[in-house]
Parts: sequence; C-alpha cells; structure tokens
Amino acid sequence: MSDYQKIIPIANQILKKHELCDQCLGRLFSKKLHLSSNKLLGKKLQKNNHSIKKCYICKNLFENLNHFLKIMFDVSSDYCFQTFSVGAIIKPSIIDRDDCIRSQYKLRGIDSIKTDITKELAKAFSKKTKHIIDNRNPEFIFTINFKDESCQIHSKSITLSGRYIKSIRGISQKQKSCENCSGKGCRICNFHGIIEFDSVEGMISQFIFKKLGGTVAKFTWIGGEDKSSLVLGHGRPFFVKLQNPHKRKLRLTSKFFNSLKINNLKIVTDSPKKPLKFISSIKMRIRIESPIEIKNLKKLKDLINSPVVVYDVSGKRSEKKILSVNYKKTSQNEFSLSIKADGGLPLKRFVNGDNVSPSISSIIGSNSKCHEFDFLDIEV
Ligand SMILES: [Zn+2]
Ligand SMILES: [Zn+2]
Repeated sequence: MSDYQKIIPIANQILKKHELCDQCLGRLFSKKLHLSSNKLLGKKLQKNNHSIKKCYICKNLFENLNHFLKIMFDVSSDYCFQTFSVGAIIKPSIIDRDDCIRSQYKLRGIDSIKTDITKELAKAFSKKTKHIIDNRNPEFIFTINFKDESCQIHSKSITLSGRYIKSIRGISQKQKSCENCSGKGCRICNFHGIIEFDSVEGMISQFIFKKLGGTVAKFTWIGGEDKSSLVLGHGRPFFVKLQNPHKRKLRLTSKFFNSLKINNLKIVTDSPKKPLKFISSIKMRIRIESPIEIKNLKKLKDLINSPVVVYDVSGKRSEKKILSVNYKKTSQNEFSLSIKADGGLPLKRFVNGDNVSPSISSIIGSNSKCHEFDFLDIEV
C-alpha cells in the first residue's frame, strides 16, 4: 500500500466529522507524502469534490489571501529591500482547532496553520515582487495581524561609516536629544529623536534621512572634540546605525555642507563591537600661570618615554601612549603643543592634571590650562 493509500482512511475519518478547506486538508498530509502544494493534495483528498461552506479550522482564511497580499504591497511600497519574511498573528480559536485536529489524529511533524499561512503569503509576495524569502536574517519583516487585518512592518537597520572634517569652529559634535522622548523618537521629533540639525550629528543625520529615509540615527564616534575644535586631515571616523531605513543603498560618498565635509560615507556590515584603537594628532594652545621657561618646556619631551595614566570618574585606570611631542612658545604665558597620542586622552585634564598623571601642569611645575585644541588628523 502506498503512503497515499494509507492516508485516505484518516482523511475520510476527519472529513466525516469536519469540513476542511483544500489548504487545511492538504497541510495535514503533505509533509508525509513529500508534496509541496497543500492545495492540490487537499483537492485530491476531498470526497465527492463537494463545495466547502466553511472550513472547520481556518474559517476560510485562505480564500482571503489576496486581500492580505494587497495590504503587504501597500505598506511596503515606499521601501527598497531584497529579502523579507512574513510573520502572523492569528486568532487563538483557529490555532486551538488546528492543534486539536493534529493531536486527535496524531498528525506529527506537519506545519501549523500559522506556518502555512505565512508561507503562502511569502510565496505569493515573492512571486509578484521578485523579493527573496529569508526567514533567518531578512531586511524587511511583515507581521500580519489576521485579527484586525493590520500589518506591521520592520525594516532592519543599516550601518554606515564615514569621516567628517570640520574646518570652522563653533559646531558641536553631538545634537541635543528631543526633550519629549529623550532621543527614542516620537511624533514631535518626527521619530528622529532630535529636533535641531546644527551639530555634526545633526547635519550628518539630516543628510542620511534625506538620502535613505529612516527614523533614529545612532552614532558611534571614534573620539570626540570640543565645539571650538577643528577636525582636519582625513577627518574623524564615525559609525551610524540608521533605524527603519527606506533605502539600503547609497551611491554618493562625500558631501559638503557650509562648514562640514563628510567623506567616505558608505554602508558597512556593522559597527565595531569593541572600541576601535586610534591615534590622534593634536595641536593645543596652552596658557600657564607663571612666565614660560624653555627649560621646563623641554621636559615635555619625556612624555614619550612612559605612558600617561588616566583615571575616569568611576575610578577606572587606563594608559595612553604619547608618540611625539613638539612645542612652541607663542607668548610670555602661552605655548602651543603638538602631540601624537593614543585616542581617547582627555586633553583638558591632561593639561591641568585632573586625575591624569603625569600632566602638563605637573611637568612644567605651574598651573596650565588648555583653552583650545584641534585635531590635525586621526588614524585608525
Ligand atoms: Zn482551512
Ligand atoms: Zn521626540
């Protein structure tokens, strides 16, 4: 007896008690027979090909698939993506009846009705749009709610990297978050988490929103600077994760604003998991209390020999290497200091000696203050 002949009595037994649609009937046996179309198998198994009034399990949900397919087209029309998956929220009563039939007739290893309906919708959507079904790591996710006929969508975030060059003083690196939502995104800030766009963060965000759509842009900075600092050379690297992007491709790679240039902007697989090591070339203007003596400035060269120890607020200790030191007296009480150092050295504290040792103040033997610093380059 073939597998097909073996299942006929079971199918008949079920049909004697319950009306089932082709799709639900076929699903109960297709895995066992290694068939791909539940519908065709169901049709074949129906007795006397009578017309079904109402499927006991799904209440004819499958007749309505085109309606949900249309909703999927509508909600995704503004998005560009290649891969997608479909999830579903289904009335518990449907799932209960499905479970009941499966356990009553000991039908193991078959798709649940939820799996089947999402598979059918994904197949139909893929056929029409040529998008690829990917249940592991889709770019776009539909969650169809069959209870209220709504559809939620999720566009997987993308990460970009780039560098910025700041050639005019007076631009903050970071943008203040929207006060209403603390940066999470709300109606007031148009779901961007920020309202103003006058910082490095704001200008880059605005540009990205314009090019790729999206809601919140989350930055990972490779170091930071003051509002009054310049960032020159190749610029400061950054990573930015864009939530809910509408587009996932970017052609343009550099952009000039009035005072800011973005370079090498490109889509990357992910932000760095660990903090990136980098080396900064910095020029500082330092003022000291007592008149400058050259013999004291000469001592600054010793900084190259041993690392600078930095304690942060929590008491965590870290060491930063100074790779080169050059100084120039510019007036009685002022000199400029150019150093190449491990990234992340807190420059103002390095000068005045606040929980940093040795510091410029301690080496020179006089209270020193850094009142301006610029980044000449940053190497990763
Ligand atoms: Zn059904
Ligand atoms: Zn907000």
